[in-house]
Amino acid sequence: MYLSIDGWKSNFTFSACHMIPAHKKCGRLHGHTYALHARIYGKQDKTGMIVDFSVVKDAMRKIVDQLDHRVLLPKKRVESEKNEITIIEGGKRYVFPETDVALIDVPCLTAENLAKYALKKICREIKNENISEIEIGISEGWGQDAWVSRKL
Ligand SMILES: [Zn+2]
Repeated sequence: MYLSIDGWKSNFTFSACHMIPAHKKCGRLHGHTYALHARIYGKQDKTGMIVDFSVVKDAMRKIVDQLDHRVLLPKKRVESEKNEITIIEGGKRYVFPETDVALIDVPCLTAENLAKYALKKICREIKNENISEIEIGISEGWGQDAWVSRKL
């Protein structure tokens, strides 16, 4: 049995921009509307629940709020000085105000890596003994998703 939260229908969406270094088209800075989805597998407890929907949604909201209306950059590839973030990718130098950036601990900002990042954060937030597996999806626009799961 599993619970499912669809980011498009439940409003777990965020707008952000990124670039994929060395990719011909996606190497240029560009934006998407993303959605974050979750499936929580497990068994029901005495109350009849695997986990309260609101617990899952609170964890999802934190991730969406962190990423929404920001430039997504890989944490380890940037330099930070005087409230500015600098990144050099593909021979181009970008400088952003720190307030406009979300630094993410992944090698590059693909949908696959964003899903892995979100999975790690969600797993930390919503552990309980009923849950056997958590699956997280990131849509990069409508109709194309990356999904990743972890058994607990
Ligand atoms: Zn893109």
